[in-house]
Amino acid sequence: MSIWVLATAADQLSPLLAAAREATEPTGQAVEAVVVGTAELATAASGMGVGRVHWIETAPDIPAEAYVGAVADLARRAGADVWLSGAAPAPRALLGAAAAACGAGLVGGGVALRLDGPTVTVERNALDGAVVETLTGPAPLAVVWDLTEAQPVDAAATAPVETVAAEPSKSGLRRDSVEPAATAAGLLTAERVIGIGRGVKARADLALIEDLAADLGAEMACSMPVADDLHWLGPERYIGRSGQRIAPGLYLALGISGEPQHMEGVRGAKVVVAVNKDPAAVIFRSATYGIVGDLYEFVPALREALRQD
Ligand SMILES: Cc1cc2nc3c(=O)[nH]c(=O)nc-3n(C[C@H](O)[C@H](O)[C@H](O)COP(=O)(O)OP(=O)(O)OC[C@H]3O[C@@H](n4cnc5c(N)ncnc54)[C@H](O)[C@@H]3O)c2cc1C
Repeated sequence: MSIWVLATAADQLSPLLAAAREATEPTGQAVEAVVVGTAELATAASGMGVGRVHWIETAPDIPAEAYVGAVADLARRAGADVWLSGAAPAPRALLGAAAAACGAGLVGGGVALRLDGPTVTVERNALDGAVVETLTGPAPLAVVWDLTEAQPVDAAATAPVETVAAEPSKSGLRRDSVEPAATAAGLLTAERVIGIGRGVKARADLALIEDLAADLGAEMACSMPVADDLHWLGPERYIGRSGQRIAPGLYLALGISGEPQHMEGVRGAKVVVAVNKDPAAVIFRSATYGIVGDLYEFVPALREALRQD
């Protein structure tokens, strides 16, 4: 079976190719790459051990999604059995179009892939990571992959790059500006960060923690559900695998369980202090200092201690 990976940025390539290579290892089938982006991206892909690179060149002010027609045409002609992309907005949208164009099934959250004769088996995270679902289906199948970190690339040769004739769609979609999110800029360079999780019971309680942040000169951050589900802080403030990665001197985690997806974002922190009322919370396995206790007692006590200093 043939696997084609679709990428719009360099950091998507090596994890996708590692997944594709693992799945094709038993048969040694070549993996091909479709890159929608710059010449540098196409060159990077060609040096990563793929059989061929199909390059859809993007203009500087046009987002990758504007090339949806070219991707769909390619998918129709390609006859690939499995398509893989990362979960970032652009590749995810393009993969959906590719799947629709070639009549492929579409699955999100893939973490493992197996090719069993004509059957494709995909494992994917579900229920917020609480369970792993195993799905099977016939080829062609498109899988949005839950990207991990960069993987080592061991490429002996450079693959040919085929330019795919492509015009942006007539949608008129263009990129007017790219600015760092103003509120996240301070977070990324902060020396002290307070992260809050679902252990904080009410939005009104944020004021208490913001006061502590002001006392400490710290930036506020949070776990993914606090931003995505509760909307108490903006999405640019959640930490983790799919959020921001920070490297402060101090990360004070209040009411955060410490699931690996969250802790991946604070690997660079020098000191992690975790406050959690559950002594079995997983965050205590990786925190530098763990405080088993109620954050509603801890925060006022720390503020009081800082005042007396
Ligand atoms: C593919 C995927 C990607 C993900 N990416 C991310 C990511 O990038 N970032 C991220 O954060 N999550 C991510 N998640 C979600 C992650 O798995 C966890 O579900 C999430 O981090 C949990 O958030 P939480 O710790 O705030 O909530 P919970 O898991 O509900 O934990 C709340 C904690 O607060 C404690 N607590 C409760 N009351 C108090 C109190 N009064 N005082 C002290 N402690 C208290 C509890 O003991 C508990 O440990 C991802 C999940 C998946 C499947």
